[in-house]
Amino acid sequence: NYSLKQLQQIDAAHHLHPFTDHKELRAAGSRVITHARGPYIYDSEGFELLDGMAGLWCVNVGYGREELAEAAYEQMKELPYYNSFFKCSTPTPVLLAKKLAEIAPPSVNQVFFGSSGSEANDTALRLVRHYWALEGKPEKNRIISRRNAYHGSTVAGTSLGGMEAMHKQLGGAVPNIVHVMMPYAYELALPGESDHEFGLRAARAVEEAILEAGADKVAAFIGEPIMGAGGVKIPPMSYWPEVERICRKYDVLLMLDEVITGYGRTGEWFAAQTFEVTPDTMTTAKALTSGYQPLSALLVGDRIAATLTEKGGEFAHGYTYSGHPVACAVALKNLEIIEREGLVERVKTDTGPYFAQALRERVAGHGLVGETRSVGLMGAIEIVKDKATRERFEGDGRAAVVVRDHAIENGVMMRATGDTMILSPPLIWTRETIDLACERIVRALDLAEADLRRA
Ligand code: PMP
Repeated sequence: NYSLKQLQQIDAAHHLHPFTDHKELRAAGSRVITHARGPYIYDSEGFELLDGMAGLWCVNVGYGREELAEAAYEQMKELPYYNSFFKCSTPTPVLLAKKLAEIAPPSVNQVFFGSSGSEANDTALRLVRHYWALEGKPEKNRIISRRNAYHGSTVAGTSLGGMEAMHKQLGGAVPNIVHVMMPYAYELALPGESDHEFGLRAARAVEEAILEAGADKVAAFIGEPIMGAGGVKIPPMSYWPEVERICRKYDVLLMLDEVITGYGRTGEWFAAQTFEVTPDTMTTAKALTSGYQPLSALLVGDRIAATLTEKGGEFAHGYTYSGHPVACAVALKNLEIIEREGLVERVKTDTGPYFAQALRERVAGHGLVGETRSVGLMGAIEIVKDKATRERFEGDGRAAVVVRDHAIENGVMMRATGDTMILSPPLIWTRETIDLACERIVRALDLAEADLRRA
């Protein structure tokens, strides 16, 4: 509903809230996304794209869901906001906490709400350290994470994360966080090492970090079940059980970051269920509301909750928008839609396997593709210069950007991270949507190959 002139002004002024490279944004402008329906997004020129990223891993139920708009509207009329302090609450966060306890792994059942995944991880970090202090072990405060992990953009999130470029801009990380190898067989497995063996070795890197510090100094291990922004790094099935065994052995808490993998993406409500791992804390956000409202939930188990209750006094946690009634109303409706439409089951038994097969049969053979991999509707395509040797193109991810730009021009929104293309579409994608996406991706790969080999 904007005039062309307004849209041109918006485009010209995008650098006023820049997310990407400032210089590039000023030079090239941006694509203004104005509306969206079902699996499609539309830009200001009316160009239609399949949204292969569900926004940013958010819009699991797809766009244009009037029920979600209505849930927000009704709640805003009834009670737009009240806080969770002064011994107060409002109905929707309580109902949502109850619902989350029903669908989450049984090991986590109490909820701290926030507005973003970064806030949830920040709270989780403070909470596990506080827990050990209450247990009389304040020196048990070290956190083990992985290189190339992403856990948010706040100082705590960036420190927990293992992205070098972000650390360089941090000017000093939160202390006592160490990073170990990621479970990424394609690049890190040794010659002749099976996936299974590699998974065990990657898990043992956690044990080595514990032994190096001393178990009495290590509070927790944090990881995404599948590293998302780090390039959809899917660990071998041997990895998580071994990590869990090691954590239990040394009494180290296991913190899962399910901000991306939660709410159906992997074909279970949570990837903890896919990998059969038992978290002590679990952070979620994004698809909790399918992105229709900003909301995050940190879930913790009885062990931490009991200590907080018995020894804790007040845990000084609480954001102005913790348990925001409108966001929680939308989350409740979103979970109802996911359940009613059987989206989790559909990913598990139908679209997930179909997606994996489509990537394998139609994309993996392409000359630019080193490997495809996926779990549920979370997939990746590795871009290589040479399939046999796995050599990459020069320019640190430049090749993937070329592929991405062609993908967008050909009507499918994908993300490029490093040399990896990521696809994580809304869970409403059907077999037909997957077919269409694959067609467009292969066309984009052909065009990108012509560009890259010519260069
Ligand atoms: N953890 C993970 C795994 C994420 O992918 C993200 C966001 N991409 C975050 C945390 C941070 O969430 P937010 O952007 O909502 O702060």
